[in-house]
Amino acid sequence: MFSRTLGLVFGMAVASATGFWLDGPQGLLAGALIVCVYTLLKDLWKGQKLANWLRHNNVQEPPEMGGIWGDLIDRMKRILNEQRKQTKLEQQRLQDFLLAIQASPNGVVLLDPEGRIEWCNQTAALHLGMDAKRDLMQHVVHLVRDPVFKKYLSTDVHEGEVIIDGRNASLQHTVKLSVQLHNYGENRQLLLTRDVTAVAHADAMRRDFVANVSHEIRTPLTVMSGFIETLQNLPLNEQEREQYLGLMSTQALRMQELVNDLLILSQLEGSSLPSSSDPVLLSNLMGAIESEARGLSASQHVSADEPQVLHFEAPEGVQILGVAKELHSAVSNLVNNAVRYTPAGGLITALWTVLPDQRIQFSVVDTGPGIASEHLPRLTERFYRVDRSRSRESGGTGLGLSIAKHVMQRHGGELKIESELGKGSRFVLVFPASRVVL
Ligand code: ADP
Repeated sequence: MFSRTLGLVFGMAVASATGFWLDGPQGLLAGALIVCVYTLLKDLWKGQKLANWLRHNNVQEPPEMGGIWGDLIDRMKRILNEQRKQTKLEQQRLQDFLLAIQASPNGVVLLDPEGRIEWCNQTAALHLGMDAKRDLMQHVVHLVRDPVFKKYLSTDVHEGEVIIDGRNASLQHTVKLSVQLHNYGENRQLLLTRDVTAVAHADAMRRDFVANVSHEIRTPLTVMSGFIETLQNLPLNEQEREQYLGLMSTQALRMQELVNDLLILSQLEGSSLPSSSDPVLLSNLMGAIESEARGLSASQHVSADEPQVLHFEAPEGVQILGVAKELHSAVSNLVNNAVRYTPAGGLITALWTVLPDQRIQFSVVDTGPGIASEHLPRLTERFYRVDRSRSRESGGTGLGLSIAKHVMQRHGGELKIESELGKGSRFVLVFPASRVVL
């Protein structure tokens, strides 16, 4: 600044002296004026260049200027660079923040004070059937038309959450969403969505399960208390008493079996996966199951003219790595079902086969009534029965196949069911080669 002022004063002095020498006092004024106008025009030109540079926002290529203008440009360049860096950093932070919200498994929608969508992540768009770009600035009530949600949105204080149907819900595939609203900033609202289909499903299953168990236990209990009342109030002869006590014992046995199966199921669900180091000898397992099945068959068809024909086969020396109790439970449930559902004179064949890929398969084939195809996918559900009274009459709990499926899943295997109405059934357990010792 000092050198520039000095330069200007020196220039004016030289121009004034030259003017005075050439034309006296008038020349002096003219010389000073020329220097002033020249300096002003030069500054105007440089100022214009600076303004152009700033207008085009091209910080990296500043105009070449020296002196005070050069200093000014350098400082401006530094400030602009600093600002750019700051803006970039903030943009990056915002981007990271939005990416984090995008990655959230929950839906996030930002609503303006009028309830219009300012931003939403993909999860929310999917949950609520919106388009994250196209539907921006749309009123959320135009897109989420569930009356429960509308009512919730209209209240001033949004307490808790509401459960609504997701947009991609259908009759076969229900989707349940938990929706929550929170106020933030100046009258803005944060809308959070969470897919609670699995939780709702588990809840419904738990309710069904409790209802089923209560029903299963209540039936024999009602029968038993009826008999107890009869025994207490009616003068019965010995034969009648024997008969009633026999019926009561059958009901007690039924409850016992149900409780046993429930305990097995809860143990299966609560215990760690079976280790691969405990060998179970197939011939031993089959020996126990065969004698159980023959006993059951004999007791079920005492008065039949023709007994059931049972055929068992197990290879010698082959072992399965798993939990003996669980394997027994899975196999005996299938064999006992075949015995229970097949009429007298029918044939039941239970055999183990080593498959070419070293897996091992247990199959039980019967010539019983068979099962219509519409029931097959639901047979392993707890308490699902094709014919309730038939299952109960033969001592069924409705949990056998569910237990077998669970045991197979825990051992890395699978349960397959093939059946045709009127033609008998085939139940198969396949164990992975990793659990077979030949
Ligand atoms: P349950 O104790 O009622 O037998 P399960 O879970 O073992 O319960 O079997 C479910 C249903 O599958 C049975 O109620 C029965 O309707 C059907 N089922 C199972 N095994 C057979 C079979 N071998 N033949 C015909 N139906 C069967």
